[in-house]
Amino acid sequence: MVESEPKLLNSITFLESGFCVHPGFVALRGGGLATRKFPAMVAVLEHPRHGIILFDTGYSEKFISETESFPYRLYRWITPVTIDPATTARHKLTQLGISPADVRTIIISHFHGDHIGGLWDFPQAQFVYVPHAFEDVRHRKGFSALLAGYLPGLLPTDFLSRSRVLEPASKRPLPPEFSPFQVGYDVFGDETLWAVELPGHAVGQIGLFARDSSGKAVFLVADACWASEAFLELRLPHPVTKILFADSATYRNTVRQIREFHELHPETAIIPCHCMKAVEAFRQVGTSLSQKNYSYNEPQ
Ligand SMILES: [Zn+2]
Repeated sequence: MVESEPKLLNSITFLESGFCVHPGFVALRGGGLATRKFPAMVAVLEHPRHGIILFDTGYSEKFISETESFPYRLYRWITPVTIDPATTARHKLTQLGISPADVRTIIISHFHGDHIGGLWDFPQAQFVYVPHAFEDVRHRKGFSALLAGYLPGLLPTDFLSRSRVLEPASKRPLPPEFSPFQVGYDVFGDETLWAVELPGHAVGQIGLFARDSSGKAVFLVADACWASEAFLELRLPHPVTKILFADSATYRNTVRQIREFHELHPETAIIPCHCMKAVEAFRQVGTSLSQKNYSYNEPQ
């Protein structure tokens, strides 16, 4: 049997859209009391036909306005956030020559505020996610929303009409290069982007597999772990974080699966959303978007 060539993106770029701080031990057992910075990374995926795709959006000014009053103010107290207009994904994309309207797709890993914080900034984007991730939060308000890390006002008013959900029935068997993950969503039906479910941290959280133009593979794992050490050394977050997790036992299982994936496919860059170390390692070897090579053509 002849294996088909992996389908490639033009480029994969990471932008930091704000950050929050926590003592190190919160994210990793034995991480110490010293404050550690957790950047909210946005992956910018340049697809040959579908143009600019974002995987999550980080924070934005909207996150600040939505957390001005109680009870949502508590969100900012628990996770002190630094964001200003010059540090948003929207602003940084503009500096790369990409206007907000050029972003046609935003894939949402899960509905925590630091992942959907910038949805309002991209008025032409279609939102892609699994339906159970949204169902878990859509009717939550006040403290119930807060406990799910969700801020209802971060969803644009036309969120539903701009949504394209990944129906569980559309899951397909994955090629062996993704083992131990068995099934996933072929996001555009062209095998360039494969989403897999990484539950536990949040209901219906998804991760994403992609390759850049050089063939370098990435596995974006969102918040399935907060730092690479979590899967490399099987160091889990402090028990205090359990209150924010959908299901701790499932979370541990997901981290073990990522660890197994790493052992089987050490050449793939596994990138947690908040891990600067993983992003910097990828920047040394990956193909990043530059103003020179960006071009968008309406898909036929
Ligand atoms: Zn999260």
